[in-house]
Amino acid sequence: MFAQIRVIQHFMDEIQSQKIFACDVWHLNIENFVQSIQIYFVKNQMLKQCFQRSNLAKRKINRKNEQKLMFQDLIINCPNQEHDNNVKLICFDKSCKTNRLYCMQCNREGMHCSHPQYQYELPILLEHIEKAYQECDHFVNRIKQIIDLVYQSFNQLIGGIREKFQRSKEQFLNLNSKQMNSFFEQVILFKSFEAKIETQITESSQNFQYQLKYLYQDLNISQLNYCQISNSDIQKSQEICQKGYELWLNDNDYLEAIKNFDQALIWNPKNQSALQKKAYCLRLLKQYKEAIQWADKALDIDPKHEDTMKGKGISLFMLEEYKEAIIWIDKALEINPNNKLSLYYKADCLRLLKQYKEAIIQADKALEIDPQYQLALYCKGQCLQTLNQYAEALIFYEKYLKIDPNDQYAKIRKNQCLEALEIK
Ligand SMILES: [Zn+2]
Ligand SMILES: [Zn+2]
Repeated sequence: MFAQIRVIQHFMDEIQSQKIFACDVWHLNIENFVQSIQIYFVKNQMLKQCFQRSNLAKRKINRKNEQKLMFQDLIINCPNQEHDNNVKLICFDKSCKTNRLYCMQCNREGMHCSHPQYQYELPILLEHIEKAYQECDHFVNRIKQIIDLVYQSFNQLIGGIREKFQRSKEQFLNLNSKQMNSFFEQVILFKSFEAKIETQITESSQNFQYQLKYLYQDLNISQLNYCQISNSDIQKSQEICQKGYELWLNDNDYLEAIKNFDQALIWNPKNQSALQKKAYCLRLLKQYKEAIQWADKALDIDPKHEDTMKGKGISLFMLEEYKEAIIWIDKALEINPNNKLSLYYKADCLRLLKQYKEAIIQADKALEIDPQYQLALYCKGQCLQTLNQYAEALIFYEKYLKIDPNDQYAKIRKNQCLEALEIK
């Protein structure tokens, strides 16, 4: 018996190492599944076969075949506790009120007999669950895009308000008298605009928030038995996540770290630390699109996580989406205005958007925090050089080269400035 348990243990390890528990449903049924698989294999003395199957999986036959194999092995106890049998059929009828997963005994007792056209065999289940998982992802992305559009319109409105009512003293003095007159007239009217816009925005945003809350309540999350994660699952998830973090920190093994984060998320899909760290590792692996997807998932749970917002900004920067990168870096800067890395990335985004003066302002902020900050020194040098301010650019390249005398790019740029100054 002891040997058999070891064999089962081995089999379970195999399954886990193949990451077959890749979706929440598996997680929900994991205890049932483990129990029934043990009973099944011990009772039927099919240990040999199970070994052959796990070995087959080991040979890395393509994933689809692997899944098919597991569908055949899928064993779930009938939800009717009085039945000893395993589930064989599932019911897809939307208005059905009894257990949708059911055994042959249920079938004999006449359940679902009023709607035979909606009955399917069990192997369809996982396919359907997987499809639903993807559809849910697509749906969430679609509604997120709708909100992004709202945000875009809002930004446009803010831009318009500033354009209409805001001039610095210097800018004002640069206008001709006719323009001054017309601008001043608008400024006088500002108060009435202010009140009108603020009332409308407050009203519609309250309405919208109310609707969202209503929709959330409609989801009835607290009533669903599978949404409650046990404390032991949370604990286990944290332990696995920590293991992944150590692999990342101590060995720089991002791939193995990500495997651990994935495991942690099976135990607790809301483990925000695992989501954040997975996003971070994906970025370190230069998988920027995936990094953004996982950062989004992490931000769904903790929308104010500075590091994740900054990370998303950097990934967007790497994908050359500079405008959107600035949006996310700004959000990170709202929480931590003194993060020099955020300031540098904002500066470099602006530089690449050819907004050199604004870029210099951001680089200066980073240099205020750390005067030796190489990324900001170089970025400021590049901006000044592009603005043909060669003597000033030279100062920053020289500061940079003082720290890193062998940097070929900085040397080339320094020489370009020197040449330009000589020609002058
Ligand atoms: Zn049954
Ligand atoms: Zn039914």
